[in-house]
Amino acid sequence: MTTRMESHICSAAPIYEKPLERPVGIRPRDIAFDIDGVVADTMQVFVDLARTRYGLTHLRKDHLICYNLYQCVPAPAHVIDDLICLTLDDDHTLRVPAMEGAAEVLTRLAGYGPLRFVTARIWPESIVRWLEGLLPEVPAGSIQVTATGDPEVKHRVLKEMGVRYFVEDRLETCRLLAQRGFVPILFDQPWNQEGASFPRIYSWSELNDLLAWED
Ligand SMILES: [Mg+2]
Repeated sequence: MTTRMESHICSAAPIYEKPLERPVGIRPRDIAFDIDGVVADTMQVFVDLARTRYGLTHLRKDHLICYNLYQCVPAPAHVIDDLICLTLDDDHTLRVPAMEGAAEVLTRLAGYGPLRFVTARIWPESIVRWLEGLLPEVPAGSIQVTATGDPEVKHRVLKEMGVRYFVEDRLETCRLLAQRGFVPILFDQPWNQEGASFPRIYSWSELNDLLAWED
């Protein structure tokens, strides 16, 4: 989800030149997660709203090939502004579908320690409630959400958490994390197809296979 102009994301320039090896055997305590675009299929709500509120009936999620929605959605900026605000408001946040398999893997992970989420949202309350609804077997105290308000400072939070791996859908955030020694795991989405340098996963079951599940 973008709320700012990020024209450089769609440029032809390489995002990060040195490919990172695919991690295996990730310990549960070493990983944290972005929420929108990774756990929550937030952009599906954006597309649904675009279709119903603004008659963009041909729009599909796979048309969102760029993180900067202003560059890939065929609508005036004020319409896109409105759609972003609607998508992120409390009512619509609570109605966001989850990515398939996310709840199962996260519930299992919670058996090893608190779940850590870092979001660039400014106001985390509604997405925290959404997570609590998604993960009814996980105690609320084991769902830790840090809202940075800015994707570019996620690395500070991750450093404090002491985690090494971060599952993220925004390419620029992956690049910044890699530069600081973290291992970003890119969750495949239509808007991050240029990120060949990062380990990419296509599903939560694939992530499940990268984790070291100790008995
Ligand atoms: Mg995201």
